[in-house]
Formats: sequence, C-alpha cells, structure tokens
Amino acid sequence: MKAAIFRGPGAVELGERPDPVIEAPTDAVVRVVLGCVCGSDLWYFRGESPHAVGSIGHEFIGVVEEVGAEVDTVSAGDLVIAPFIYSDMSCPHCLNGSTISCVSGGNFGNGVIDGGQGEAVRVPLAGSTLVPVPGSGHSETTLRSLLALSDVMSTGHHAAVSAGVGKGDTVAVVGDGAVGLCAVLAAHRLGAERVIALSRHPQRQQMARAFGATDIVEARGEEAEQAVLSLTGWVGVDAALECVGTGQSIATAFAVARPGSTVGIVGVPHGDVPFAGPFFRNVGWRGGPAPARVYIPELLQDVLAGTIDPGLVFDYETDLDHIADAYTAMNERRAIKSLLRVGPL
Ligand SMILES: [Zn+2]
Repeated sequence: MKAAIFRGPGAVELGERPDPVIEAPTDAVVRVVLGCVCGSDLWYFRGESPHAVGSIGHEFIGVVEEVGAEVDTVSAGDLVIAPFIYSDMSCPHCLNGSTISCVSGGNFGNGVIDGGQGEAVRVPLAGSTLVPVPGSGHSETTLRSLLALSDVMSTGHHAAVSAGVGKGDTVAVVGDGAVGLCAVLAAHRLGAERVIALSRHPQRQQMARAFGATDIVEARGEEAEQAVLSLTGWVGVDAALECVGTGQSIATAFAVARPGSTVGIVGVPHGDVPFAGPFFRNVGWRGGPAPARVYIPELLQDVLAGTIDPGLVFDYETDLDHIADAYTAMNERRAIKSLLRVGPL
C-alpha cells in the first residue's frame, strides 16, 4: 500500500508499506478515508523531536475492512474514528480515564505501527480503540469534524476539562494553532461566557470568533499578559488553556490565571517550564495528552447533531501523493491544519 514515510528531518515522502493484515485476534484492518498532519508531526519534520524512520501520522477515520476473532464492537463496513493512541480500556490507567498511559497501548504512526497518513492501518486492540460512527451518508463537513475528534478537538476539549471550564466562566486560550482554536470551541461548548483568544493572525482570529471567542488579544509575552489581565479588571481569567507548549506560552497562561484557578496545559512542554510563580499563587495545573478515547463518544454526539464543527480547522487539502506539501504548508504557517484525502468512503 501507499503510505507516508518519515525518512528524517525535512523528509516525509510517499512510499510503500506492506498491506496490513490481521496479526492478533484483537486486531482490525481499517482502510483510511481521511487522515491529516498534526502540529506534533511538525516537530519531527523540523528535527525538534526524534521520530523513528518509517510510518507516520496518528489521526484518521476510515472504514473497517476486516476484524480479528476477538473484536466484537466493530465490524467490516463500519465507519470508525481512531483516537491517536490505541488502548485496552481495561488496565488500571484506562479504568482511571488515562487511556494515553494504557499499559498495553501504543502510538499509531510511530515508525513501526501503521500510521494514519497511509492507505490502511492495522489497528491493535481494535475493539476497545475504534469508535464506530452511527448512521450513514454523512456530509463532507461531518466527516472532517469526525476526523478532528481523532486528536485535535479531543485535545482542545482536554485543555478545557483540565482547567475546569464551566458555565459563565471567563477563559483565555494561549495558542492559535488547530488545538488552540479547538480549545476555544471546547470552552464555548462548556458554557464559558467570555473566551479571550491570543492570536496575531487575521484568518485564525476569524476562526476563533466563529468558534466562540469574544475577545482577541494580538500581543505576546508580557504585553499579552497585561492585555488579558486588563480585560478581566486585573482579576485574571477563571481558566487559562495553554495550547502551545513553549516556556513563553506556559508563562503567559499562568500569568493570566486568576489566583485559585487551574491552568489546563495540553501543549507538550518544550524547554524550561516556569512553575515557581504559580506555586506561590496557589494556581494549579492539569493536563497532559488527551484521553481521546474517553471524550470521543460525547463529542461525537455534538458533531452528528451539527452543534460543533471542529473540521473547520482543516484549511488545506491534498492527497498522499503530495504528502510533503501537507507538511510544508503547515511548517510555513500557510495552513492551520492539512487534511489528506486518502480513499473513497
Ligand atoms: Zn489500558
């Protein structure tokens, strides 16, 4: 089959991988319909984080082709969403809601396990991992939003849940990438009354507003902190959602959080993390990689009802033959998030 292959920094190319087959009775083979490129794939592309040579891509929706003997929750022909991590849903961590720490789980597209940027995927632990989508004849808009649940929308939601966003809250979202924009949507969905988005890009500001942002702050660093604090009468926000992972963005999130609040951090930290100040202000933080498998069934209902449309983050589209373009467009910030049209529904 055709699949994107990570060959090293700056080199993601179309290549060949063996057609996936059922290897364990808990496996399924899924034919990919839509895949995409994650912001975290760019770190590998830029050489900022290591990645094994081989398969890449961890977000996809597709149609089940074949299931192993022990898989009874999905069957051939089902449209399914794959969370970015496969999990057994039965170990102590899964039962505690932390599917990303599953003792028998793992990552799609890690060089060895098939990735979502390919024509098909062998899904381990398929019965407990894949989420079947009810109904049929879903629109293109719905399909794109279902794809967003695989990682980006689940991760934005996790930021909001981690920070305890509730009805009537004032929320700040640091980061205007696809995750940050989904965090705006998630905060709005959870009832936040005011959502302050930090963004300097007109197109992203527009999408943030479409997702429920009520205020835009264009500054960065200390200037941004002052601007957000000023908007809250110098109290600080009820919940700060950090969706970048750099020292500066984490510092900004903590600085704008009101005393006693919780910062939701989903941007994977890069470099030094400033914790001393928040410690003395009793500001806590939660977060980490999203347990997408736990969130998808709930978010799925809203996508199917048409009340949320996270697929709007996909503003660039290509196919596997042009996989390098998908990366370059995001790397050069011409695209918020690249979608890959892989196969027919
Ligand atoms: Zn587990």
